[in-house]
Amino acid sequence: MHQMTLAEIARGLADKKFSSEELTKVLLARISQLDPQLNSFISLTEALALEQAKAADARRANGESGALLGAPIAHKDLFCTQGIRTSCGSKMLDNFKAPYDATVVSKLAAAGAVTLGKTNMDEFAMGSANESSWYGAVKNPWNLEHVPGGSSGGSAAAVAARLLPAATATDTGGSIRQPAAFTNLTGLKPTYGRVSRWGMIAYASSLDQGGPLARTAEDCAILLQGMAGFDPNDSTSIDEPVPDYAAGLNGSLQGLRIGVPKEYFGAGLDPRIADLIQNSIKELQKLGAVIKEISLPNMQHAIPAYYVIAPAEASSNLSRFDGVRFGHRCADPKNLEDLYKRSRGEGFGAEVQRRIMVGAYALSAGYYDAYYLKAQKIRRLVKNDFMAAFNEVDIILGPTTPNPAWKLGAKNSDPVAAYLEDVYTITANLAGLPGLSMPAGFVDGLPVGVQLLAPYFQEGRLLNVAHQYQLHTDWHTRTPTGF
Ligand code: GLN
Repeated sequence: MHQMTLAEIARGLADKKFSSEELTKVLLARISQLDPQLNSFISLTEALALEQAKAADARRANGESGALLGAPIAHKDLFCTQGIRTSCGSKMLDNFKAPYDATVVSKLAAAGAVTLGKTNMDEFAMGSANESSWYGAVKNPWNLEHVPGGSSGGSAAAVAARLLPAATATDTGGSIRQPAAFTNLTGLKPTYGRVSRWGMIAYASSLDQGGPLARTAEDCAILLQGMAGFDPNDSTSIDEPVPDYAAGLNGSLQGLRIGVPKEYFGAGLDPRIADLIQNSIKELQKLGAVIKEISLPNMQHAIPAYYVIAPAEASSNLSRFDGVRFGHRCADPKNLEDLYKRSRGEGFGAEVQRRIMVGAYALSAGYYDAYYLKAQKIRRLVKNDFMAAFNEVDIILGPTTPNPAWKLGAKNSDPVAAYLEDVYTITANLAGLPGLSMPAGFVDGLPVGVQLLAPYFQEGRLLNVAHQYQLHTDWHTRTPTGF
């Protein structure tokens, strides 16, 4: 039962092969049996899950249908869930029970999805390895000595290990696509503004975007359908109709123009990953796609620009966690300053403190022009490169990451080494474009992802290309041993 995709679950529920309650019980038992190896959940919500499953079964019995009605999912622990701990992977929010549901949470609940729990993540979504969580590192089900990627590592590990079919995640610089690549999943970061950020605890507001993590493009289409749409509570939400993503999964790739940026294949890319990307290109050519070499000349400036902009926004967003309005409060403060200093010093981990310091420095008088303003100019150049490329091609293809998942602890002493691993993902966030990662093969038993990028609001195009690819390849069906 645990091997089923969301699409298969929807068919099984519609055909009355099993109930949502039965399926929910099987998955909850599987989580309690297997998750101790992975640490992919921060909180389990068994009682809520069973209540939602029974309600979904009753709705089906009353003649209602829907792809998510009775489907078990989990939420990354930065989506606010009413009355349930929403920790953001931080000691700072360990005792925070959100007073309301994030829009993504309430939309999915209304569609009948069943919430099994809240998944582990890098603290405040800062990281690429899920090692900065206050609740401990998450392990990669493909090799328990390796990281699952981050910051949505809990969602990724849980879905890859077949603890559940799909989960929500967020992507500020790659946190959906990179863990998807590291765990053999399909993950989609939508266009900025496509999915509401209301109730999603902010890391870097101009870059953050929620999206689905699942095993197939078809399942990403189903979950995105439940997440996307205009939300008046989010001032950057865009009032664009949401297409029927599942219905769009039947397009021919004949004549599809795929741009392959020459900058993506330079030094730093593992040659074995380069070979797998070439194989996926050949596969898409067989389906009728036409390949064109393109150039994204400002890509080399993207990492430094991102690691100024994201910490700058984080330093501002995280100022609210002061032990007074929000967050952990230290014991016996001597005075107000002592309260602020010790509450923040105790509540935030090392990576979060590093980013707050970098961000506050970049925004300070005298340095603003040299760092923040300059980074914003690079951001525009990165966007312009993409706009020029999309005049010539329909999608852009390349590796999701330069290397496969590294060993736990391997990059802990060198944060910049971890930042460099984001080279292929962060440009989409800087430009606000949609991007998808899908399975493309294995290196030393570890999964490799291929990334597709599309023009604004062309999530449907990405999902269709990935679905056609998955109809003709079987990488996405591989299961990690022991799960
Ligand atoms: N690795 C990037 C960072 O640490 C991206 C994280 C994310 O997308 N949330 O900022």
